[in-house]
Amino acid sequence: MTSLPLIPALSDAPAARRASMPPRHLADLDLAGRQALVTELGEPAFRAKQMSNHYFGRLVRDPQAMTDLPAATRQRLSEQLLPTLLNPVRELACDDGATRKALWKLHDGALVESVLMGYPDRVTVCISSQAGCGMACPFCATGQAGLTRNLSTAEIVDQAVYLAGVAASGAVSGSPPRLSHVVFMGMGEPLANYNRVIAAIRRLVSPAPEGLGLSQRHITVSTVGLVPAIHRLASEDLSVTLALSLHAPDDDLRDELVPVNQRWKVAEVLDAAWDYAARTGRRVSIEYAMIKDVNDQPWRADLLGRLLAGKLAHVNLIPLNPTPGSRWDASPKPVEREFVRRLRDAGVSTTVRDTRGREIDGACGQLAAAEDNDTNTDRAGEAPA
Ligand code: SAH
Repeated sequence: MTSLPLIPALSDAPAARRASMPPRHLADLDLAGRQALVTELGEPAFRAKQMSNHYFGRLVRDPQAMTDLPAATRQRLSEQLLPTLLNPVRELACDDGATRKALWKLHDGALVESVLMGYPDRVTVCISSQAGCGMACPFCATGQAGLTRNLSTAEIVDQAVYLAGVAASGAVSGSPPRLSHVVFMGMGEPLANYNRVIAAIRRLVSPAPEGLGLSQRHITVSTVGLVPAIHRLASEDLSVTLALSLHAPDDDLRDELVPVNQRWKVAEVLDAAWDYAARTGRRVSIEYAMIKDVNDQPWRADLLGRLLAGKLAHVNLIPLNPTPGSRWDASPKPVEREFVRRLRDAGVSTTVRDTRGREIDGACGQLAAAEDNDTNTDRAGEAPA
């Protein structure tokens, strides 16, 4: 083991990983694609819209509940378009049910998690884009376990549709019943699974029955800073919010905290963020986990303030959440307050994120998807730790 984390591998998923991708699902396809497939299967094209209405419009994921489809048709089409992608393993709740974490087993045994957070004015779900993560950030539980594989578009979308259904059932008291926000802040590096994540975003924002009909502005994609992919995202006709996991304003420290910095330096990743802001008109969110005596010094606040002053940026400080085996702690509150004060004095808008879901290991950086706390058998063969 070296003390400096190795730069993550960024090449496309090798064939072995692709081989474990799940069966096709209607959420992998746009409406035209679904219609073409249904026609190919010998059914009238309108069946595609009918099934899409159930799935995206009414959040019905179980084909048996689609009773307006004739039984034989339902059987044939659901085999082709609605395979079960997410097998529930466990659901945990805290905050009186306002925070919920779902653990799923995928068709090949890979495990992923999703989190729902209910607030008085909105419901946000935090979804995973990969099983595990290859970015190796040493303070993040997901990063420590390594990458198992990319999720398919439908595996990503189905997390949101399932949790939208939970919200619609009224289970989250004190929150609106409609899912409004989706953040790609669960397991994985979304921009390392670029095409599938973009397709998933299109499903989330297309109006029903093609998709869930969420507002683009209510979707946030969080990245460690894959520079070419940020530029590419800026050129899509999407204006989603970009969050950049910066965590340090200087290359020395960021090389260690976010190992991909060894490839794309702070100056370069911030340039990409400003390119994104300029081309979309959207303020970039700078994520900064506050780690005691590591990145929380006043001089680092001042340096960060100088880098961000006058830019279309907002800083989100995240009190470090505990992860197994980590030698790091969250910054003390007075240190955090001083960091905030210095950033604000530099004219940079700054907030401290709440630590929702800590009790259920559902907060930022805690998603590690173990089936239970005693046995690790399921994960042992999947990902080199
Ligand atoms: N890979 C993407 C998406 C994950 S988002 C990214 O890194 O941006 C998860 C966010 O939580 C990231 O900002 C990540 O850096 C942060 N995080 C990871 N571990 C954490 C921890 N232990 N405490 C607080 N935040 C953490």
